[in-house]
Amino acid sequence: MSFAELGLSEELVLAVRDAGYTVPTPIQVQAIPLVLKGADLFAGAQTGTGKTAGFALPVLERLRKTPERARAPRALILAPTRELAAQIDASFKVYGKYLKLTSTAVFGGVGINPQIDLLRRGVDIVVATPGRLLDLCGQRMIDLTRIETVVLDEADRMLDMGFIHDITRILALLPKKRQSLLFSATFSDEIRQLAAKFLDHPESIEVARRNSTVEIIEQVAHPVDRERKRELLVHLIEKHNWFQILVFTRTKHGANRLAEQLQKSGIPALAIHGNKSQGARTRALGEFKSASLRVLVATDIAARGIDISELPVVVNFELPQVAEDYIHRIGRTGRAGAGGNAVALVCIDEKGLLADIERLTKKQIPLEIVPGFEPDPRIKAEPLQKQRGAAPRPRQGTPRPQAARAGGKEARSNATRTNAEPARLAPAPKPLHGEKTDKASPRPKPGSAPRRFGHR
Ligand code: AMP
Repeated sequence: MSFAELGLSEELVLAVRDAGYTVPTPIQVQAIPLVLKGADLFAGAQTGTGKTAGFALPVLERLRKTPERARAPRALILAPTRELAAQIDASFKVYGKYLKLTSTAVFGGVGINPQIDLLRRGVDIVVATPGRLLDLCGQRMIDLTRIETVVLDEADRMLDMGFIHDITRILALLPKKRQSLLFSATFSDEIRQLAAKFLDHPESIEVARRNSTVEIIEQVAHPVDRERKRELLVHLIEKHNWFQILVFTRTKHGANRLAEQLQKSGIPALAIHGNKSQGARTRALGEFKSASLRVLVATDIAARGIDISELPVVVNFELPQVAEDYIHRIGRTGRAGAGGNAVALVCIDEKGLLADIERLTKKQIPLEIVPGFEPDPRIKAEPLQKQRGAAPRPRQGTPRPQAARAGGKEARSNATRTNAEPARLAPAPKPLHGEKTDKASPRPKPGSAPRRFGHR
């Protein structure tokens, strides 16, 4: 199957070839013909599957066929974060380089006036984060009445971030007769409700098994004491000679602290999160991509959607409080058919989180104690919300209240979580089984021997 066979015109096929793509990915094979024929789409696809081109190429093709002079935007892409919005816009520019169509990204955290100037000049495609788009609508700086296609990208993450009311308000401003596409990596009841409400007889496509972690990723969890995680991370980085490591922490504060500590250990590291300026985030991402930065420490929100492909290692320095985030995190590795390693450093407080992840992914993550880092059995579990900078996690399936508008995306997410009821934070009643391993002993097969956690 070639891009031309999918019904794309020569200009797009050429641009795709220039980008170095030779064959369409499975999501592109499925999505492109459906979007071209005008269908609504409910698509299950993770970052790294080529989903952006899966909607950008047919959207460009459709707009190309019906040139307009009015220059009010005709395609709207909603994305959860500024990084993702900027990347999608960049993709539209790459794929549309032989067309006369224009695109721009609008997102918060940077001045609104340059964005207004660009909109005034007229654009065909707008990629936006919901909050900034509503601000622009409120100031009557953008006209959404000519939108022909709307894409909700990473819809699950937008709901996680409390954007549901913003999305509802935006969709109410669009023409009733339009094409709507929804992309999500996971399928919660909330996502299904959103799809049922806003999609019209959608075609459903899915390229990764529901709530599954990518099979080619080798996962391992290292039990370790909470205070020794950093030391263990340094040990693993040096022992395996890892480069280009994406490390996840739960909080912005934790990300900053860890990056500083790694720097002090002589490992070039930077933190990327919502409190950093756009310039600092772009710079950090650029250095990381060019491999001059060895470790990028990120929070879930900041890392969401950033296009760093085929990372060899993703480290969960702290497990996420929402199990779905684990799937997003480790999706950064093992992309485009390449293998990858997802390593989790798990302390006694996180037993419940690990169990949540295993329940969601229906897969047991092998536990492997690193010699010299055996957990001290005298250390008792502490509730996560009592630890510095951590917020309680919501009970799974509990509807998330919309977070405060102020404070940026990350603050919203945290506010959402702070409002939620803490769930199962006390140590699990029955021990999480584990098996002590060392260099000589093989890694336990999932489900083989009973697993012990946190005991010598
Ligand atoms: P996405 O899932 O949209 O974030 O895309 C992940 C990565 O795959 C991006 O770096 C794209 O440039 C790349 N990509 C998209 N489509 C293809 C393709 N058909 N062949 C090779 N790489 C692709």
